Amino acid sequence: MKIENSYSNVVYNLKQKPDKNIQKYDFTSAQDILDLNLAGKRRDISFGANPVKAVKDYLKFLQVSRFVKNLETYLNAQPNHEKLHFRNLSMEYLEGIQYGIKVFKGLSMKDIQYLSENLHVIAVKRGCNNMCGYCYADAKPSKREMSWEDFTTITRGFKTLRKRLGSLPPLFGESLPTSREPIYRTTELFYDSDCMNLSIKDKKGRIYDMRDLVTEVYESIGRKSCFDTSGWNPDNKAMQERAEKYAEYFSKPENMDKLEAFNLSFNPFNASYVAGVKALRTNDFDKYVRLRGKFTDRIANAIYTFTPLMKQDNFNILVRCFGLQSEHATHFNFEAMLGLTQEVLKKVEGLYKKDLEGCQKYVKSQADIDTYIKLIRKKTERISTGLNSSGRMKQFIETFKIKDSTLQNHTETTKLMYKELQTEGRYHRHLALRLIDTDGRVYHMDYARFFPTGIQLNIKDKTPTPKLANLRENCPVTKEIINREETHHAISDFL
Ligand code: SF4
Repeated sequence: MKIENSYSNVVYNLKQKPDKNIQKYDFTSAQDILDLNLAGKRRDISFGANPVKAVKDYLKFLQVSRFVKNLETYLNAQPNHEKLHFRNLSMEYLEGIQYGIKVFKGLSMKDIQYLSENLHVIAVKRGCNNMCGYCYADAKPSKREMSWEDFTTITRGFKTLRKRLGSLPPLFGESLPTSREPIYRTTELFYDSDCMNLSIKDKKGRIYDMRDLVTEVYESIGRKSCFDTSGWNPDNKAMQERAEKYAEYFSKPENMDKLEAFNLSFNPFNASYVAGVKALRTNDFDKYVRLRGKFTDRIANAIYTFTPLMKQDNFNILVRCFGLQSEHATHFNFEAMLGLTQEVLKKVEGLYKKDLEGCQKYVKSQADIDTYIKLIRKKTERISTGLNSSGRMKQFIETFKIKDSTLQNHTETTKLMYKELQTEGRYHRHLALRLIDTDGRVYHMDYARFFPTGIQLNIKDKTPTPKLANLRENCPVTKEIINREETHHAISDFL
């Protein structure tokens, strides 16, 4: 699950340099534009069963392609063209450019425009076994996941569309003005899952893990992803091997460059630790010590395993707990977190010493140990106390009778956000992202709420997914909201 709270996340400025991986495409022939080569192999392009309609759509497509070329030339010559965003283009003129892209079958360009701006999550897998006490996604174990074929039908559909749109303003809203609407620059692969558990299979049973998934997003969609984990059981050999492979892979700058951040979450809401604190209620101190030790072993092992990433700026250890103002949060507050951090640091130092005396996998001298411990201290010194009361946290605060007036309650903001959606259309001021679920359904979301949109991508497996936590079924983002005209910068203003 994404660890940061939506409103406290970094926002990206219009003036920020465009990401170098956002490529501009040149196409030379209709074959190139239509990706006909790809069509034979992958069937991402399909021209429909009705030949008369297919020809009509194709002619329309050619007409729109010509228009796109002319529009590109025209816009690039304008002194203020960088102020134009894809969301500002009237889709009336671009309708038809999506011709034959299978994943968009049945969707208008207006739907696709809406889906693409702030496309923040393609959830390839749903559910999590970690059962953290504060999980605001209320994640539970589940087996629902996308096939690799469905995942790449989506990513390659976007790739083809990006190609066809050439150098028109970026599809994914990278240049949205932050004063009006903050955006994430990432497209992530999870909502209620831990990245250590994120792998999917193709129909032949081949496994694709985070290395393949982030590469696909980076190369096809042109966006970075994030890696978030709250650690794994060090006795789980398969998981440990996977973590070591990730550490090695992302230690290479060209691979880490595909990620906006690689985050290890360290907080006192881990299931073992919470069970330990509960044991104190029956004065079972031994159980508390054992379960607390299990938790600190887990985090120490994760930090140790990720040593090859330690010097990278975008490797973070995200420390989070209740603040000092919280009542009855003794084992989950700032003070408890400092104690846990000291314990983990001591254990990591022990692991380094053992390594130094043994095979020297990560450290070759006491100076190396000192360097890494200093870095870990730095990465754990910022403690966030931004928590909200949704999902499992609601139950958590009831169980421990925690009182905290700063906990964010989203009932009122949800009402406000939906009202603005209805009155202003989708260009309202609140943070609003899009999530594609494992069944291809699209949601309007921030991390505190999900609104259904009625849009579903054309992928093969549309069997229902586990219901999203914080889903507001009575707040639909209707076609009327999606189709509401923007009042400024229609294409015609530029022609
Ligand atoms: S249970 Fe924990 S690791 Fe799993 S999604 Fe929730 S917060 Fe993340």
